[in-house]
Amino acid sequence: MSIVVISGPSGAGKSTIINKASEHIGSFYFSISTTTRLPRAGEMNGREYFFVTKEEFEADIKEGNFLEYAKVHDNYYGTSLKPVLNALNEGKLVIFDIDVQGHKLVQEKLSKITTSVFITPPSLSELENRLKNRSLDNEETIMRRLENAKKEIKSIKEYDYIIINDDIDRATDEFISVCNVAKLKLSDESIDKIIFSWEKS
Ligand code: ADP
Ligand code: 5GP
Repeated sequence: MSIVVISGPSGAGKSTIINKASEHIGSFYFSISTTTRLPRAGEMNGREYFFVTKEEFEADIKEGNFLEYAKVHDNYYGTSLKPVLNALNEGKLVIFDIDVQGHKLVQEKLSKITTSVFITPPSLSELENRLKNRSLDNEETIMRRLENAKKEIKSIKEYDYIIINDDIDRATDEFISVCNVAKLKLSDESIDKIIFSWEKS
């Protein structure tokens, strides 16, 4: 039972790193978040996110369907509880790409099984270049994301690991290492299981 939380400014390279690492980290479940933000070009409902209206999101909050949720850049983003519990019960590594507020909430509830990593480009100006080169957001959205990034970077100290994503191959290798070490993290449940099987065999 292990969770990896990956956070970092929008445009830091989180999705790129997860995609590149995906064949090298064994059986995992990537938690698909629900959001009220509009899909970007190329995004598909149920693949990158579940895209819903504000009313639908607020109904899910009322019904207690989220493990955590937060408002980021004026939109809601949340992690549904059920699929995460199913994946954990199946023994899969669960990966969350969530913001610093979501990370805090996950730590409050599941710190024993959570390993966290903050990803950032080497500088604010490089982040701006990447957001502009990605060509998916308009100028105003990019400016809002850069302002948010300046706040988010102050939360680095709350994370177990940091990856500076200058070279994508090295950053991916580092992320694979974090996933491997996350699987070795001891939880109360794994301790009981290990002792039980150690004594019986
Ligand atoms: P996030 O998921 O954190 O929002 P993305 O994975 O979409 O970020 O990456 C943002 C942009 O930066 C993409 O266009 C991606 O191809 C590019 N990128 C990612 N890592 C690097 C890197 N090490 N060097 C240069 N460009 C990168
Ligand atoms: P984007 O709009 O670029 O896809 O994501 C914006 C920010 O929202 C990123 O920092 C991302 O990590 C965060 N985010 C995505 N899903 C969730 C979620 O379920 N919960 C929280 N708290 N943040 C999320």
